[in-house]
Amino acid sequence: MLHLEQLSKTYKTGETALHDVTLDVPKGQILGLIGPSGAGKSTLIRCINRLVEPSSGKVLLGDVDLAKLGKADLRRQRRRIGMIFQEYALVERLTVMENVLSGRLGYVPFWRSFLRKYPPADIQRAYALLDRVGLIDHADKRADALSGGQRQRVGIARALAQDPELLLVDEPTASLDPKTSRQIMRLLTEICTERGLPAIVNIHDVPLAQQFMQRIVGLRAGRVVFDGAPDALTEAA
Ligand code: ADP
Ligand code: ADP
Repeated sequence: MLHLEQLSKTYKTGETALHDVTLDVPKGQILGLIGPSGAGKSTLIRCINRLVEPSSGKVLLGDVDLAKLGKADLRRQRRRIGMIFQEYALVERLTVMENVLSGRLGYVPFWRSFLRKYPPADIQRAYALLDRVGLIDHADKRADALSGGQRQRVGIARALAQDPELLLVDEPTASLDPKTSRQIMRLLTEICTERGLPAIVNIHDVPLAQQFMQRIVGLRAGRVVFDGAPDALTEAA
């Protein structure tokens, strides 16, 4: 499904954040990335969809090497990858429904009237997603009226609206309390399992990773220092 081959990133500052990372993520697998701050977790996630440009190596999604694509092709291929962010990255002045539909569009529409003309079939799908994440009754609320946990549920529904083949999830619970964090991780992993959707989750909270991830990859100073089942995790990572 996703195959990273000798992926490296050296920033302009001279900092090498990733050293030759080779990793396979099969269909349906939920992989947690752990490691201390500065280990390269965000860099790894961002190199996959090229929010950060890899310095070398391959990023194969199916048989397309994302690392090699020009701008136009990249824009099209990025639709295959759903992103979920720590700070939700919702458009506060839009409604929950509009935020979810913006995932379907692949960008945030500037004009609300544009959304009102959106195809009914997509609106139905968006309602189904909101139902799945438990927010059907909040569809018409503005995003800024929601709690953190509710916002992240919108973030999940928005990522799913584009029918991704892979989810990249960057610290999804870092802004949430422990109980809400567990609820969000449970929802996220249940949905991935239902859909056979692979996910890479940047998760600094090791107990949370052990509870919910199927596989854990530990990074340290840009290298993979652990790769295995959650219960095999030792001090190595
Ligand atoms: P993590 O997500 O594990 O905390 P990061 O990927 O954010 O790690 O960072 C890995 C290393 O790369 C760190 O040393 C960090 O300072 C450096 N780094 C991250 N982003 C940049 C950047 N835009 N420019 C220069 N160095 C960066
Ligand atoms: P996180 O680890 O949660 O991503 P950071 O504080 O490491 O947060 O990074 C915040 C932002 O600053 C990111 O966009 C990252 O790419 C950038 N950044 C991190 N380290 C450096 C650095 N050494 N030089 C330049 N930019 C950096």
